[in-house]
Amino acid sequence: MAKCAMRKMRRKGLASMAVQTVATAKNVDLGPAAALSCRECGERFDLGPIFACELCFGPLEIAYDLPTGDPEGLRKRIEAGPANIWRYAPLLPVPADVTEKPNLNPGWTKLVQADNLGRELGVEPGKLFVKDDSGNPTHSFKDRVVAQALEAARAFGFTTLSCSSTGNLAGAVGAAAARAGFRSCVFIPHDLEQGKVVMAAVYGGDLVGIEGTYDDVNRFCSELIGDPLGEGWGFVNVNLRPYYAEGSKTLAYEICEQLGWKLPDQLVIPIASGSQLTKIDKGLQELIKLGLVEDKPYKIFGAQAEGCSPVSAAFKAGHDVVRPQKPNTIAKSLAIGNPADGPYVLDIARRTGGAVEDVDDEQVVEAIKLLARTEGIFAETAGGVTVGVTKKLIEAGVLDPSLTTVVLNTGDGLKTLDAVAPTTGPTATIRPSLDAFRDAGLA
Ligand SMILES: *Cc1c(COP(=O)(O)O)cnc(C)c1O
Repeated sequence: MAKCAMRKMRRKGLASMAVQTVATAKNVDLGPAAALSCRECGERFDLGPIFACELCFGPLEIAYDLPTGDPEGLRKRIEAGPANIWRYAPLLPVPADVTEKPNLNPGWTKLVQADNLGRELGVEPGKLFVKDDSGNPTHSFKDRVVAQALEAARAFGFTTLSCSSTGNLAGAVGAAAARAGFRSCVFIPHDLEQGKVVMAAVYGGDLVGIEGTYDDVNRFCSELIGDPLGEGWGFVNVNLRPYYAEGSKTLAYEICEQLGWKLPDQLVIPIASGSQLTKIDKGLQELIKLGLVEDKPYKIFGAQAEGCSPVSAAFKAGHDVVRPQKPNTIAKSLAIGNPADGPYVLDIARRTGGAVEDVDDEQVVEAIKLLARTEGIFAETAGGVTVGVTKKLIEAGVLDPSLTTVVLNTGDGLKTLDAVAPTTGPTATIRPSLDAFRDAGLA
């Protein structure tokens, strides 16, 4: 792009900077996705790699022509679909032939009935469930959102996939790009857990550590998008964010389908940027509108780590805006100090009668171990946050232990070994003899 044109775009501000005309918006095939609409002012735009409203700078999200009218037919079609997120293709911004393209095909992870954990927490049998997204291809929920962003990147003609990441996203982008034959170049804070760094690098794309927090990384990526250096790059969580975000809806769809096409009463969801939580709510609302589940009230609870709890702090203070924090917590995948969707999370928690709560790092570690020893699920720190918050909210009488509750585990404990390693290890180390074992007192 010519220098003067770039300067002109800069003057027009963020929204225009975000417009990369790789493909004309009109001829993309993204299934039921009809347009982009501004979450603040409702203005509609053609589908394209843009993320902010040109009028009010509000965030854009996908508006659909959803297949209403035949809920029974739609349900049958979904149930006959593949055991991954593409069973919900009629509700996602993806082309009809999505299953024929190289993709990691994440999703359809286990919904585990967690009666043992429930017993410890005082929840009635059959009421507590863990949605275990550690079972995804790169062992976190991020494969869901990247799978959508990849399809959008294809539709818009991008050939490089990029992101700013708190760790899990970098790995998910690297893997998805490798499988789909894209180049990838991803950006992370330089001080992440080793498990996350290795997982982000092993797929062979470029990985860049930035000396700063996630919020610094994110700011850097926004600058890169507006610069010729980043031309032709699809940043899954920046210029492809509206498409990316829709991937989280599949969690809502799966949970309801796995409960026998029923809404749960309560959900406990981790908050980093808040995108996942807001889109799970959007997914539940769609299922109601489509007649796939019976309409009834549900409550959404957001979970943060105390060392990065801007949304929880705003909720407790009764504020509508979120004051940014500088993160300091072992729950690094959730360490976003300035969460883009914070205000929408507050709206949803308040509208549904839920809450936003936080737990400290010690409680996170305790909760990781509690889930592991009761259910055989080894969660990463984000799962420790949701289980810890669930425990805290039940003890406080905020979460009702007699209702159906789904707690999200969004990542695998093998990625955050550092969190539990100092307090977890062999019960004994002995010589290979029966005498030594007898002396250890474990028989
Ligand atoms: C990214 C992430 C989340 C949620 O992120 P949002 O930005 O709130 O959508 C939750 N858990 C894990 C493990 C993550 O990596």
